[in-house]
Amino acid sequence: MDMLEALRRGAAEGRVLVHAGPGPEITYARALARSGGYATALVRHGVRPGDRVAVQVEKTPDVLWLYLGCLRAGAVFLPLNPAYTSAETAYFLQDADVALFVADPARVTAMAGPRVVTLADLTAEAGEANPGDVSASGENLAAILYTSGTTGRSKGVMLSRFNLSSNAAALAQVWALTAADVLLHPLPVFHTHGLFVATNTVLTAGASMIFLPAFSADAVFAALPRSSVMMGVPTHYARLLADPRLTRAAVGHMRLMISGSAPLPAAVHREWEDRTGIAILERYGMTETSIITSNPLAGERRAGTVGFPLPGVEVRIGDPVTGARRPPGEVGSIEVHGPNVFRGYWRAPDKTAADFRADGFFITGDLGVFDAEGYLLIVGRSKDVVITGGLNVYPAEVEGAIDALPGVAASAVIGVPHPDFGEAVVAVVVPAVGAALGEEALRHALRERLAGFKVPKRIVLAPDLPRNAMGKIQKNDLRQLHANLFAPD
Ligand code: AMP
Repeated sequence: MDMLEALRRGAAEGRVLVHAGPGPEITYARALARSGGYATALVRHGVRPGDRVAVQVEKTPDVLWLYLGCLRAGAVFLPLNPAYTSAETAYFLQDADVALFVADPARVTAMAGPRVVTLADLTAEAGEANPGDVSASGENLAAILYTSGTTGRSKGVMLSRFNLSSNAAALAQVWALTAADVLLHPLPVFHTHGLFVATNTVLTAGASMIFLPAFSADAVFAALPRSSVMMGVPTHYARLLADPRLTRAAVGHMRLMISGSAPLPAAVHREWEDRTGIAILERYGMTETSIITSNPLAGERRAGTVGFPLPGVEVRIGDPVTGARRPPGEVGSIEVHGPNVFRGYWRAPDKTAADFRADGFFITGDLGVFDAEGYLLIVGRSKDVVITGGLNVYPAEVEGAIDALPGVAASAVIGVPHPDFGEAVVAVVVPAVGAALGEEALRHALRERLAGFKVPKRIVLAPDLPRNAMGKIQKNDLRQLHANLFAPD
Protein backbone atom coordinates (compact mmCIF):
# COMPACT_ATOMS: atom_id res chain seq x y z
CA MET A 1 0.00 0.00 0.00
CA ASP A 2 1.25 3.45 -0.97
CA MET A 3 2.01 5.82 1.95
CA LEU A 4 -0.77 8.20 0.90
CA GLU A 5 -3.29 5.37 0.70
CA ALA A 6 -2.22 4.32 4.18
CA LEU A 7 -2.67 7.87 5.44
CA ARG A 8 -6.17 8.09 3.94
CA ARG A 9 -7.17 4.71 5.33
CA GLY A 10 -6.06 5.76 8.84
CA ALA A 11 -8.05 9.01 8.46
CA ALA A 12 -11.16 7.14 7.31
CA GLU A 13 -10.86 4.80 10.27
CA GLY A 14 -10.52 7.71 12.69
CA ARG A 15 -7.16 6.65 14.09
CA VAL A 16 -4.51 8.50 16.10
CA LEU A 17 -1.09 8.77 14.45
CA VAL A 18 0.97 10.70 17.03
CA HIS A 19 0.20 10.48 20.73
CA ALA A 20 0.38 13.47 22.97
CA GLY A 21 3.78 13.56 24.56
CA PRO A 22 6.07 16.48 24.11
CA GLY A 23 3.39 17.83 21.68
CA PRO A 24 -0.36 17.45 21.12
CA GLU A 25 -2.14 14.36 19.85
CA ILE A 26 -2.41 14.23 16.05
CA THR A 27 -4.88 12.04 14.19
CA TYR A 28 -4.40 10.56 10.74
CA ALA A 29 -7.14 12.93 9.55
CA ARG A 30 -5.20 15.94 10.79
CA ALA A 31 -1.96 14.63 9.26
CA LEU A 32 -3.82 14.22 5.97
CA ALA A 33 -5.08 17.79 6.14
CA ARG A 34 -1.66 19.17 7.14
CA SER A 35 0.08 17.33 4.30
CA GLY A 36 -2.52 18.70 1.88
CA GLY A 37 -1.80 22.21 3.11
CA TYR A 38 1.93 21.72 2.58
CA ALA A 39 1.31 20.35 -0.92
CA THR A 40 -0.66 23.49 -1.78
CA ALA A 41 2.03 25.76 -0.32
CA LEU A 42 4.78 23.92 -2.22
CA VAL A 43 2.94 24.40 -5.50
CA ARG A 44 2.51 28.07 -4.68
CA HIS A 45 6.29 28.28 -4.26
CA GLY A 46 6.65 26.98 -7.80
CA VAL A 47 7.50 23.39 -6.92
CA ARG A 48 6.57 21.05 -9.77
CA PRO A 49 6.42 17.25 -9.91
CA GLY A 50 9.94 15.81 -9.81
CA ASP A 51 11.44 18.94 -8.19
CA ARG A 52 13.61 18.45 -5.12
CA VAL A 53 12.51 20.02 -1.83
CA ALA A 54 15.35 20.11 0.71
CA VAL A 55 14.35 20.19 4.37
CA GLN A 56 16.82 20.93 7.16
CA VAL A 57 14.97 21.51 10.40
CA GLU A 58 14.77 20.22 13.95
CA LYS A 59 12.66 17.11 14.50
CA THR A 60 8.93 17.78 14.85
CA PRO A 61 5.92 15.96 13.38
CA ASP A 62 5.66 18.80 10.83
CA VAL A 63 8.63 17.24 9.02
CA LEU A 64 6.51 14.15 8.39
CA TRP A 65 3.53 16.16 7.09
CA LEU A 66 5.92 17.99 4.80
CA TYR A 67 7.33 14.68 3.56
CA LEU A 68 3.80 13.47 2.84
CA GLY A 69 2.98 16.87 1.30
CA CYS A 70 5.91 16.39 -1.09
CA LEU A 71 4.49 13.01 -2.12
CA ARG A 72 1.11 14.61 -2.73
CA ALA A 73 2.66 17.34 -4.88
CA GLY A 74 4.83 14.78 -6.68
CA ALA A 75 7.97 16.49 -5.33
CA VAL A 76 11.10 14.69 -4.15
CA PHE A 77 11.72 15.01 -0.39
CA LEU A 78 15.35 15.65 0.52
CA PRO A 79 16.06 15.74 4.27
CA LEU A 80 19.35 17.12 5.57
CA ASN A 81 20.97 16.72 8.96
CA PRO A 82 20.74 20.05 10.84
CA ALA A 83 24.29 19.42 12.07
CA TYR A 84 25.73 20.01 8.59
CA THR A 85 27.79 23.17 8.24
CA SER A 86 26.73 25.88 5.81
CA ALA A 87 29.39 24.73 3.35
CA GLU A 88 28.19 21.13 3.48
CA THR A 89 24.58 22.25 3.14
CA ALA A 90 25.43 24.44 0.17
CA TYR A 91 26.99 21.42 -1.55
CA PHE A 92 23.80 19.34 -1.18
CA LEU A 93 21.53 22.18 -2.32
CA GLN A 94 23.62 22.71 -5.39
CA ASP A 95 24.24 19.05 -6.19
CA ALA A 96 20.54 18.19 -5.93
CA ASP A 97 19.53 21.37 -7.78
CA VAL A 98 16.74 21.98 -5.29
CA ALA A 99 13.63 23.97 -6.14
CA LEU A 100 12.90 24.94 -2.54
CA PHE A 101 14.89 24.85 0.69
CA VAL A 102 12.92 24.66 3.93
CA ALA A 103 15.10 25.53 6.90
CA ASP A 104 15.27 26.89 10.42
CA PRO A 105 15.48 30.69 10.72
CA ALA A 106 19.24 30.78 11.44
CA ARG A 107 19.96 28.76 8.34
CA VAL A 108 17.60 30.81 6.20
CA THR A 109 19.58 33.93 7.09
CA ALA A 110 22.84 32.22 6.16
CA MET A 111 21.43 30.88 2.88
CA ALA A 112 19.16 33.79 1.96
CA GLY A 113 17.68 33.53 -1.50
CA PRO A 114 14.36 33.38 -3.27
CA ARG A 115 14.11 29.64 -2.93
CA VAL A 116 14.52 29.54 0.84
CA VAL A 117 11.66 29.52 3.33
CA THR A 118 11.39 28.78 7.05
CA LEU A 119 9.28 25.87 8.12
CA ALA A 120 7.23 28.28 10.25
CA ASP A 121 6.45 30.49 7.25
CA LEU A 122 5.61 27.52 5.07
CA THR A 123 3.34 26.19 7.81
CA ALA A 124 1.59 29.57 8.12
CA GLU A 125 1.04 29.68 4.36
CA ALA A 126 -0.06 26.07 4.19
CA GLY A 127 -3.41 26.11 5.93
CA GLU A 128 -5.21 22.84 5.40
CA ALA A 129 -6.47 23.19 1.85
CA ASN A 130 -6.76 19.78 0.30
CA PRO A 131 -5.63 19.73 -3.31
CA GLY A 132 -5.97 16.70 -5.53
CA ASP A 133 -2.74 14.69 -5.43
CA VAL A 134 -0.68 14.69 -8.61
CA SER A 135 -0.98 11.33 -10.25
CA ALA A 136 2.16 9.28 -9.69
CA SER A 137 3.27 5.71 -10.14
CA GLY A 138 5.35 3.53 -7.87
CA GLU A 139 8.33 4.26 -10.09
CA ASN A 140 8.24 8.00 -9.36
CA LEU A 141 10.89 9.28 -6.97
CA ALA A 142 9.72 9.88 -3.42
CA ALA A 143 12.98 10.99 -1.87
CA ILE A 144 16.69 11.56 -2.25
CA LEU A 145 18.74 10.84 0.86
CA TYR A 146 22.42 11.67 0.87
CA THR A 147 24.61 8.92 2.30
CA SER A 148 26.61 9.79 5.37
CA GLY A 149 29.72 9.84 3.21
CA THR A 150 31.97 7.97 5.60
CA THR A 151 33.88 6.63 2.59
CA GLY A 152 34.12 9.67 0.37
CA ARG A 153 31.78 12.38 -0.86
CA SER A 154 28.09 11.88 -0.06
CA LYS A 155 25.97 10.49 -2.88
CA GLY A 156 22.27 11.18 -3.40
CA VAL A 157 20.29 7.95 -3.08
CA MET A 158 17.17 8.03 -5.28
CA LEU A 159 14.27 6.13 -3.71
CA SER A 160 11.01 5.48 -5.53
CA ARG A 161 7.59 5.30 -3.94
CA PHE A 162 7.53 1.55 -4.48
CA ASN A 163 10.99 1.16 -2.90
CA LEU A 164 9.52 2.65 0.26
CA SER A 165 6.06 1.11 0.26
CA SER A 166 7.26 -2.40 -0.53
CA ASN A 167 9.76 -2.29 2.32
CA ALA A 168 7.23 -0.88 4.79
CA ALA A 169 4.81 -3.67 3.85
CA ALA A 170 7.48 -6.35 4.33
CA LEU A 171 8.43 -4.92 7.74
CA ALA A 172 4.86 -4.57 8.95
CA GLN A 173 4.43 -8.22 7.99
CA VAL A 174 7.57 -9.71 9.57
CA TRP A 175 7.24 -7.66 12.76
CA ALA A 176 3.45 -8.25 12.84
CA LEU A 177 2.73 -4.56 13.41
CA THR A 178 -0.94 -3.75 13.82
CA ALA A 179 -3.10 -0.72 14.46
CA ALA A 180 -2.84 -1.54 18.15
CA ASP A 181 0.92 -0.88 18.21
CA VAL A 182 2.43 2.29 19.64
CA LEU A 183 5.97 2.92 18.42
CA LEU A 184 8.41 4.76 20.65
CA HIS A 185 10.29 6.96 18.16
CA PRO A 186 13.53 8.49 19.51
CA LEU A 187 15.34 8.64 16.14
CA PRO A 188 16.22 11.61 13.91
CA VAL A 189 14.06 12.03 10.81
CA PHE A 190 16.76 13.12 8.35
CA HIS A 191 17.95 9.49 8.12
CA THR A 192 16.24 6.45 6.62
CA HIS A 193 15.85 4.72 10.00
CA GLY A 194 13.65 7.34 11.71
CA LEU A 195 12.07 8.64 8.53
CA PHE A 196 11.20 5.54 6.55
CA VAL A 197 11.80 2.40 8.61
CA ALA A 198 9.89 3.86 11.54
CA THR A 199 7.30 6.16 10.01
CA ASN A 200 6.35 4.34 6.81
CA THR A 201 5.96 1.10 8.72
CA VAL A 202 3.68 2.77 11.29
CA LEU A 203 1.57 4.26 8.48
CA THR A 204 1.35 0.95 6.66
CA ALA A 205 0.20 -0.85 9.80
CA GLY A 206 -2.26 1.91 10.73
CA ALA A 207 -0.35 2.13 14.02
CA SER A 208 0.63 5.17 16.09
CA MET A 209 3.76 6.57 17.67
CA ILE A 210 5.22 8.64 20.48
CA PHE A 211 7.45 11.08 18.70
CA LEU A 212 10.37 12.22 20.88
CA PRO A 213 12.23 15.37 19.75
CA ALA A 214 15.48 13.50 20.43
CA PHE A 215 16.75 10.51 22.37
CA SER A 216 17.14 10.96 26.09
CA ALA A 217 16.91 8.25 28.73
CA ASP A 218 14.45 10.38 30.74
CA ALA A 219 12.11 10.82 27.76
CA VAL A 220 12.33 7.14 26.86
CA PHE A 221 11.53 5.97 30.39
CA ALA A 222 8.61 8.41 30.53
CA ALA A 223 7.19 7.13 27.23
CA LEU A 224 7.82 3.40 27.72
CA PRO A 225 4.65 2.62 29.71
CA ARG A 226 2.47 3.78 26.79
CA SER A 227 4.56 2.06 24.05
CA SER A 228 4.52 -1.45 22.63
CA VAL A 229 7.44 -1.28 20.15
CA MET A 230 10.69 0.69 20.15
CA MET A 231 13.17 1.30 17.36
CA GLY A 232 16.62 2.53 18.30
CA VAL A 233 20.30 2.45 17.42
CA PRO A 234 22.78 0.42 19.48
CA THR A 235 23.97 3.46 21.44
CA HIS A 236 20.40 4.01 22.67
CA TYR A 237 20.28 0.50 24.07
CA ALA A 238 23.76 0.82 25.58
CA ARG A 239 22.78 4.08 27.29
CA LEU A 240 19.56 2.60 28.65
CA LEU A 241 21.54 -0.37 29.97
CA ALA A 242 23.76 2.03 31.89
CA ASP A 243 20.65 3.41 33.64
CA PRO A 244 19.43 1.77 36.86
CA ARG A 245 15.81 2.42 35.80
CA LEU A 246 16.18 -0.29 33.16
CA THR A 247 14.39 -3.21 34.79
CA ARG A 248 12.07 -6.00 33.81
CA ALA A 249 9.21 -3.91 35.19
CA ALA A 250 10.14 -0.94 32.97
CA VAL A 251 10.20 -2.80 29.64
CA GLY A 252 8.68 -6.22 30.30
CA HIS A 253 5.40 -5.20 28.62
CA MET A 254 7.13 -4.24 25.34
CA ARG A 255 6.15 -6.43 22.41
CA LEU A 256 9.28 -5.67 20.42
CA MET A 257 12.52 -3.71 20.79
CA ILE A 258 14.37 -3.29 17.49
CA SER A 259 17.95 -2.20 16.84
CA GLY A 260 19.75 -1.25 13.66
CA SER A 261 21.91 1.23 11.72
CA ALA A 262 25.10 -0.05 13.35
CA PRO A 263 26.20 -3.36 14.86
CA LEU A 264 24.62 -4.21 18.22
CA PRO A 265 27.43 -5.67 20.33
CA ALA A 266 26.55 -9.24 21.29
CA ALA A 267 27.34 -8.33 24.91
CA VAL A 268 24.66 -5.61 24.89
CA HIS A 269 22.17 -8.09 23.43
CA ARG A 270 22.89 -10.61 26.19
CA GLU A 271 22.99 -8.13 29.05
CA TRP A 272 19.69 -6.63 27.87
CA GLU A 273 18.04 -10.03 27.83
CA ASP A 274 19.44 -10.91 31.28
CA ARG A 275 18.20 -7.64 32.77
CA THR A 276 14.78 -7.41 31.09
CA GLY A 277 13.87 -10.80 29.68
CA ILE A 278 13.58 -9.24 26.21
CA ALA A 279 15.79 -10.26 23.30
CA ILE A 280 16.46 -7.17 21.19
CA LEU A 281 15.57 -7.81 17.56
CA GLU A 282 18.47 -6.73 15.34
CA ARG A 283 17.93 -5.95 11.68
CA TYR A 284 20.19 -4.70 8.89
CA GLY A 285 19.67 -2.16 6.19
CA MET A 286 21.11 0.87 4.49
CA THR A 287 19.93 4.06 2.83
CA GLU A 288 20.17 2.48 -0.64
CA THR A 289 18.09 -0.58 0.17
CA SER A 290 16.00 0.20 3.24
CA ILE A 291 15.84 -2.97 5.35
CA ILE A 292 17.44 -6.11 3.94
CA THR A 293 17.37 -8.68 6.74
CA SER A 294 15.78 -9.07 10.14
CA ASN A 295 16.01 -11.45 13.03
CA PRO A 296 12.75 -13.35 13.47
CA LEU A 297 9.78 -12.23 15.52
CA ALA A 298 9.11 -15.82 16.49
CA GLY A 299 12.21 -17.97 16.83
CA GLU A 300 15.68 -17.24 18.08
CA ARG A 301 16.95 -13.67 17.80
CA ARG A 302 20.58 -14.57 17.50
CA ALA A 303 23.04 -12.14 19.08
CA GLY A 304 25.71 -10.88 16.68
CA THR A 305 23.58 -11.67 13.61
CA VAL A 306 21.12 -9.65 11.55
CA GLY A 307 18.80 -12.53 10.74
CA PHE A 308 17.13 -13.54 7.48
CA PRO A 309 16.29 -11.74 4.22
CA LEU A 310 12.89 -10.01 4.22
CA PRO A 311 10.14 -11.52 2.06
CA GLY A 312 10.72 -10.54 -1.56
CA VAL A 313 14.36 -9.57 -0.93
CA GLU A 314 17.17 -11.76 -2.26
CA VAL A 315 20.55 -11.68 -0.53
CA ARG A 316 23.64 -13.47 -1.75
CA ILE A 317 27.26 -13.63 -0.70
CA GLY A 318 29.73 -13.26 -3.53
CA ASP A 319 33.36 -12.80 -4.38
CA PRO A 320 34.03 -9.09 -3.77
CA VAL A 321 35.62 -8.67 -7.19
CA THR A 322 33.68 -10.96 -9.53
CA GLY A 323 30.47 -11.50 -7.58
CA ALA A 324 30.79 -15.29 -8.02
CA ARG A 325 28.58 -16.91 -5.38
CA ARG A 326 30.08 -18.23 -2.19
CA PRO A 327 28.57 -21.00 -0.05
CA PRO A 328 27.28 -20.59 3.53
CA GLY A 329 30.16 -20.33 5.97
CA GLU A 330 32.33 -18.27 3.61
CA VAL A 331 32.74 -14.53 4.01
CA GLY A 332 32.07 -12.38 0.96
CA SER A 333 30.37 -9.33 -0.47
CA ILE A 334 26.72 -8.90 0.57
CA GLU A 335 24.63 -8.33 -2.57
CA VAL A 336 20.94 -7.54 -2.72
CA HIS A 337 18.10 -7.67 -5.23
CA GLY A 338 14.47 -6.76 -4.72
CA PRO A 339 11.78 -4.08 -4.86
CA ASN A 340 13.57 -2.27 -2.01
CA VAL A 341 16.75 -1.54 -3.99
CA PHE A 342 17.13 2.15 -4.93
CA ARG A 343 16.92 3.67 -8.41
CA GLY A 344 20.57 4.77 -8.53
CA TYR A 345 22.73 7.65 -7.33
CA TRP A 346 21.52 11.11 -8.29
CA ARG A 347 23.23 12.34 -11.45
CA ALA A 348 26.04 9.81 -11.00
CA PRO A 349 25.45 7.01 -13.53
CA ASP A 350 29.07 5.86 -13.28
CA LYS A 351 28.91 5.43 -9.52
CA THR A 352 25.58 3.65 -9.89
CA ALA A 353 26.94 1.30 -12.55
CA ALA A 354 29.98 0.50 -10.41
CA ASP A 355 27.77 -0.64 -7.53
CA PHE A 356 25.54 -3.05 -9.49
CA ARG A 357 26.32 -6.46 -10.98
CA ALA A 358 25.24 -7.17 -14.56
CA ASP A 359 22.29 -9.22 -13.27
CA GLY A 360 20.96 -6.31 -11.24
CA PHE A 361 22.24 -7.19 -7.76
CA PHE A 362 23.36 -4.20 -5.69
CA ILE A 363 26.80 -4.47 -4.08
CA THR A 364 26.21 -3.16 -0.55
CA GLY A 365 29.89 -2.68 0.32
CA ASP A 366 29.33 -4.77 3.45
CA LEU A 367 30.98 -8.14 3.97
CA GLY A 368 29.10 -10.97 5.56
CA VAL A 369 28.57 -14.67 5.93
CA PHE A 370 25.50 -16.90 6.30
CA ASP A 371 25.72 -19.34 9.19
CA ALA A 372 24.46 -22.92 8.93
CA GLU A 373 20.91 -21.91 9.91
CA GLY A 374 20.77 -19.06 7.39
CA TYR A 375 21.35 -16.16 9.77
CA LEU A 376 23.44 -13.41 8.20
CA LEU A 377 26.46 -12.06 10.09
CA ILE A 378 28.06 -8.79 9.08
CA VAL A 379 31.81 -8.69 9.41
CA GLY A 380 32.28 -5.06 8.39
CA ARG A 381 32.45 -2.69 5.44
CA SER A 382 34.66 -4.08 2.68
CA LYS A 383 36.68 -0.85 2.84
CA ASP A 384 37.35 -1.51 6.54
CA VAL A 385 38.95 -4.93 6.02
CA VAL A 386 42.55 -4.87 7.18
CA ILE A 387 45.07 -6.60 4.96
CA THR A 388 48.13 -7.28 7.07
CA GLY A 389 51.06 -9.22 5.66
CA GLY A 390 48.72 -10.39 2.87
CA LEU A 391 46.13 -11.81 5.27
CA ASN A 392 42.58 -10.47 5.64
CA VAL A 393 41.44 -9.46 9.10
CA TYR A 394 37.74 -8.67 9.61
CA PRO A 395 37.38 -5.94 12.21
CA ALA A 396 34.09 -7.27 13.59
CA GLU A 397 35.73 -10.53 14.65
CA VAL A 398 38.53 -8.76 16.54
CA GLU A 399 36.09 -6.25 18.06
CA GLY A 400 33.93 -9.14 19.25
CA ALA A 401 36.92 -10.74 20.99
CA ILE A 402 37.94 -7.44 22.59
CA ASP A 403 34.41 -6.56 23.72
CA ALA A 404 34.16 -9.92 25.47
CA LEU A 405 37.14 -9.07 27.73
CA PRO A 406 36.33 -7.79 31.22
CA GLY A 407 36.56 -4.03 31.65
CA VAL A 408 35.97 -3.16 28.00
CA ALA A 409 33.10 -0.79 27.19
CA ALA A 410 33.60 -0.51 23.42
CA SER A 411 36.22 -1.03 20.74
CA ALA A 412 36.99 -0.23 17.13
CA VAL A 413 39.51 -2.06 14.99
CA ILE A 414 41.18 -0.34 12.04
CA GLY A 415 44.10 -0.84 9.70
CA VAL A 416 46.88 1.74 9.56
CA PRO A 417 49.92 1.89 7.29
CA HIS A 418 52.82 -0.29 8.46
CA PRO A 419 56.26 -0.35 6.82
CA ASP A 420 56.57 -4.11 7.00
CA PHE A 421 53.04 -5.55 6.92
CA GLY A 422 51.44 -3.02 4.57
CA GLU A 423 48.73 -2.47 7.13
CA ALA A 424 48.75 -3.23 10.82
CA VAL A 425 45.73 -4.13 12.92
CA VAL A 426 45.15 -1.43 15.53
CA ALA A 427 42.43 -1.38 18.18
CA VAL A 428 41.03 1.65 19.91
CA VAL A 429 39.51 0.52 23.21
CA VAL A 430 37.25 2.41 25.60
CA PRO A 431 37.56 1.09 29.16
CA ALA A 432 34.39 0.56 31.20
CA VAL A 433 33.85 3.03 34.03
CA GLY A 434 36.35 2.30 36.80
CA ALA A 435 38.25 -0.36 34.82
CA ALA A 436 42.02 -0.17 34.64
CA LEU A 437 43.14 -1.65 31.35
CA GLY A 438 46.66 -2.03 30.04
CA GLU A 439 47.76 -2.52 26.46
CA GLU A 440 50.00 -5.51 27.15
CA ALA A 441 47.46 -7.35 29.30
CA LEU A 442 44.82 -6.88 26.60
CA ARG A 443 47.11 -8.14 23.87
CA HIS A 444 48.04 -11.09 26.03
CA ALA A 445 44.38 -12.00 26.59
CA LEU A 446 43.64 -11.68 22.88
CA ARG A 447 46.52 -13.97 21.94
CA GLU A 448 44.61 -16.79 23.62
CA ARG A 449 41.50 -16.07 21.55
CA LEU A 450 42.74 -15.00 18.12
CA ALA A 451 45.31 -16.16 15.60
CA GLY A 452 48.51 -14.11 15.95
CA PHE A 453 48.01 -12.08 12.77
CA LYS A 454 44.62 -10.86 14.03
CA VAL A 455 45.91 -9.63 17.38
CA PRO A 456 46.23 -5.83 17.23
CA LYS A 457 49.85 -4.67 16.97
CA ARG A 458 48.86 -1.66 19.02
CA ILE A 459 45.94 -1.07 21.36
CA VAL A 460 45.19 2.57 22.03
CA LEU A 461 43.06 3.38 25.08
CA ALA A 462 40.61 6.25 24.59
CA PRO A 463 37.78 7.83 26.61
CA ASP A 464 35.30 7.35 23.75
CA LEU A 465 34.94 6.63 20.02
CA PRO A 466 33.96 9.15 17.33
CA ARG A 467 30.38 8.39 16.25
CA ASN A 468 27.88 10.00 13.87
CA ALA A 469 24.25 10.84 14.68
CA MET A 470 23.20 7.21 14.20
CA GLY A 471 25.88 5.94 16.56
CA LYS A 472 28.07 4.59 13.75
CA ILE A 473 31.77 4.64 14.59
CA GLN A 474 33.64 6.96 12.24
CA LYS A 475 36.53 4.70 11.29
CA ASN A 476 37.88 7.19 8.76
CA ASP A 477 38.51 9.62 11.60
CA LEU A 478 40.29 6.94 13.62
CA ARG A 479 42.42 5.92 10.64
CA GLN A 480 43.48 9.52 10.15
CA LEU A 481 44.17 10.04 13.82
CA HIS A 482 46.39 6.97 14.06
CA ALA A 483 47.86 7.02 10.55
CA ASN A 484 51.40 7.61 11.83
CA LEU A 485 51.52 5.04 14.65
CA PHE A 486 54.11 3.00 12.76
CA ALA A 487 55.73 5.76 10.75
CA PRO A 488 59.53 5.72 10.93
CA ASP A 489 60.70 8.78 12.89
P1 AMP B 1 23.13 3.99 6.39
O1 AMP B 1 23.00 4.06 4.92
O2 AMP B 1 23.56 5.27 7.02
O3 AMP B 1 21.87 3.46 7.04
O4 AMP B 1 24.30 2.97 6.72
C1 AMP B 1 24.17 1.65 6.29
C2 AMP B 1 25.28 0.81 6.84
O5 AMP B 1 25.14 0.66 8.26
C3 AMP B 1 25.24 -0.61 6.32
O6 AMP B 1 25.79 -0.70 5.03
C4 AMP B 1 26.02 -1.34 7.39
O7 AMP B 1 27.42 -1.19 7.18
C5 AMP B 1 25.63 -0.61 8.65
N1 AMP B 1 24.57 -1.31 9.38
C6 AMP B 1 23.25 -1.08 9.39
N2 AMP B 1 22.61 -1.94 10.21
C7 AMP B 1 23.55 -2.75 10.73
C8 AMP B 1 23.56 -3.84 11.63
N3 AMP B 1 22.44 -4.27 12.22
N4 AMP B 1 24.74 -4.43 11.92
C9 AMP B 1 25.88 -4.00 11.37
N5 AMP B 1 25.95 -2.96 10.51
C10 AMP B 1 24.81 -2.34 10.20
